[in-house]
Amino acid sequence: MRYTKLFLPTLREIPADAEVISHQLMLRAGMIRKLTSGIYTYLPLGLRAIKKVKEIIREEMERAGAQEILMPTVQPADLWKESGRWDVYGKELVRFKDRHGRDYCLGPTHEEVITDLIRNEVRSYRDLPLNLYQIQNKFRDEIRPRFGLMRGREFSMKDAYSFDADEEGAAKSYQSMFDAYNRIFERCGLNFKAVEADTGNIGGSFSHEFMVLADTGEDAIVSCTECEYAANMEKAEVNPDYIIEKAGDESSPVSMEKVSTPNVRTVEEVTQFLSVTPKQLVKTMIFETSAEPVAVLVRGDHEVNPTKVKNVLGVETLELAGEETVLKFTGAPAGFAGAVGLSIKIIADTAVESMKNMVMGGNEKDTHLIGVNRGRDFEVSEFADLRLVTPSDRCPRCGKAIEIKRGIEVGHIFKLGDKYSKALSATYLDQNGNERYIIMGCYGIGVGRTVAAAIEQNHDKNGIIFPMPIAPYQVVILPLQMRDSEVVSAADTLYNQLTRHGVEVLLDDRDERAGVKFKDADLIGIPLRVTIGKKSLKEGKLEVQFRATGETELVPREQADKVLLDMIKNSVRSRE
Ligand code: ATP
Ligand code: MG
Repeated sequence: MRYTKLFLPTLREIPADAEVISHQLMLRAGMIRKLTSGIYTYLPLGLRAIKKVKEIIREEMERAGAQEILMPTVQPADLWKESGRWDVYGKELVRFKDRHGRDYCLGPTHEEVITDLIRNEVRSYRDLPLNLYQIQNKFRDEIRPRFGLMRGREFSMKDAYSFDADEEGAAKSYQSMFDAYNRIFERCGLNFKAVEADTGNIGGSFSHEFMVLADTGEDAIVSCTECEYAANMEKAEVNPDYIIEKAGDESSPVSMEKVSTPNVRTVEEVTQFLSVTPKQLVKTMIFETSAEPVAVLVRGDHEVNPTKVKNVLGVETLELAGEETVLKFTGAPAGFAGAVGLSIKIIADTAVESMKNMVMGGNEKDTHLIGVNRGRDFEVSEFADLRLVTPSDRCPRCGKAIEIKRGIEVGHIFKLGDKYSKALSATYLDQNGNERYIIMGCYGIGVGRTVAAAIEQNHDKNGIIFPMPIAPYQVVILPLQMRDSEVVSAADTLYNQLTRHGVEVLLDDRDERAGVKFKDADLIGIPLRVTIGKKSLKEGKLEVQFRATGETELVPREQADKVLLDMIKNSVRSRE
């Protein structure tokens, strides 16, 4: 492709509304343009990178035995009502009616549609196992679309679904997708980690997320410094052997007293005002759920993990109560809630179980209670691991130190079991003629998010550094003097030779200063840059530069095409 023909609107300035580097660079390098919040057009350069990722995904899915299909974007509400998700999916699901008043939604995911297909087509154990995938645009009305393709509302996803006769087969399918995902992200040139994860809206019994390590990641990842354990913060377990540290006052219970604490609300304020440590304090958080409201108690130096609370209660939705609701249930403004006298259900984190003579809110404005003791002053209906892991916690598997890093979730795989096959009656006949539920798994990859994550990990102050396997072009040729016929003809010759060999080449044929060409080549991040200038050409040489390292090599003109072909081969193979 010739630069003068390419639709490549680059930007010099950093766009004001782009917070993260990948978003800034994708806009500046002319890869994407925003239509409206969370909805983007892919320009030629962006689309080429996206297509590369899709091709890697396709190759690895086919290698793992999955077959490509394509399902519709618009899905009938009836299927979602059958699965039970119509009422629980929430506002991310865009719903609308057709002219006959029938309900539909834009697919945020396709478990219902594929299960419907399978229940109609699969009859016998002979039809199983089966793995079907698609690469298709999803729509989710995200509450906070941001970071460009990282968290869009319309975005491209690869979603695969496996169907097996039993748990054993399903475990094999899961493992095979786990392995395929490792190969895909490795081939995309990413530094990533598979972590245990919560199953969220999709459901099922078990799941892993594939996290690209990056400081700008929206997720926190807990991983052991010694063993293999790694989990999303939402899921990360507290090691119970370490949670019963010296908590509160060890002496015998004292009597409970009310103390006046005017305008003293936060843990920091309360501990300072009353001269106690956060470990003597109990925080009472009120949540509203799809069932009854609940008060959750955690120690003053701990934070509630809402995902754990949601799972322990087995509720569909859970939300921290607003000021008004807190007032309604506790009789006090936020900051003064406590367990004593509360009429709603109370559950508590395990660390609270051994606490004595606690300090907590008094359910009255400007009031706290000291010397509070469970059993005498209030009751807890259940203790469980309900808090976020902290850096001072220990690995739940081996007890060694843990570390907490940030990550971008690019893939997520789930063991679904019979959740959807039961709800939609997807069954098969086994060898003995018995009707049994199909065991399912589902497996997603965010295509645009993967490209964004790759840029987040591979860039410098001058621009993108595309890993070769997902680069929109493999080589960029910069003829420095467009009015010198020898330079131009050397550039054309190399361009034609490489193109004939199937190399994706961009030829910067603009009549621009060298500095401008270098700047743009760096910005768009093509892995190999060939500079053709009068001076070196006189000596029969061209200069090749690696975008990633900045290293240059002078190459004899006649061998340039072969040398470049080798360089491309080596950089792709090293990822495979
Ligand atoms: P997140 O926790 O980031 O909202 P999710 O758990 O809702 O993601 P899944 O349902 O597991 O996402 O979807 C599979 C994959 O699709 C994710 O791993 C991610 O790569 C991608 N994805 C999900 N939501 C978005 C989005 N809003 N924009 C771009 N990619 C997305
Ligand atoms: Mg997920």
